[in-house]
Amino acid sequence: MSNVNVSSAKTELIQAAKVLASSGLLFRGEHANLSARVGENKVVITRGGSIANLGDDSFAVVTLEGAVVEGELDSVTNEVVEMHTAVYRVRDSVGSVMHVHAPHATVFAVAHQEIPLIYEPLVRFGITESIPVVPWAPRGSEESVSGIVQIVRKHPGLPAVLLANHGVLAFSSSPMQTARLLATLDEAAELALGAQALGGAKTLPKQAYTQVEARMRAFGSTM
Ligand SMILES: [Zn+2]
Repeated sequence: MSNVNVSSAKTELIQAAKVLASSGLLFRGEHANLSARVGENKVVITRGGSIANLGDDSFAVVTLEGAVVEGELDSVTNEVVEMHTAVYRVRDSVGSVMHVHAPHATVFAVAHQEIPLIYEPLVRFGITESIPVVPWAPRGSEESVSGIVQIVRKHPGLPAVLLANHGVLAFSSSPMQTARLLATLDEAAELALGAQALGGAKTLPKQAYTQVEARMRAFGSTM
């Protein structure tokens, strides 16, 4: 992702925001913040609290240390920018970070329950474990961000966490891949909730990850 320039990162984020909206991942407040890595040490991030109707002027560019180098952040985003930059700092492979209040995944976040690995499409994103919950602290605070960083470091392949009593944070290779991951994660959460009426969802077998990965390799599938 290091070759992505600011203008194409904005275009990709605008496209991904449309996928988030059309997939029903924005909940009623349409609150979200989205970012993409540009170059070695900078990210493009949505400047306001809502991602409805994003345009070219809806973004700012910040360094991984949080200094604004282009545009201006609204106070609501200034409050949470560290939640994004910290993930880029601790994981080089991350090209995009997205925070949303996806309606089903957030049910798990408010219940302080992990989203279990019960849905094969999640395995195709490289997920091999349930999605953990970061303990609550005010959004973007040092305590909240250090909780996120701790889990990201401890689980090197994990591309998402739940933020207790708040929402979801996902981080993958590109904006579109991260939006698709969020959609799949919310589907898994919805299915896990629905299956409770039938006695509860069953987890995938332990060998599922290696089997799915081998088939994806054989067929040249990327997700
Ligand atoms: Zn939020």
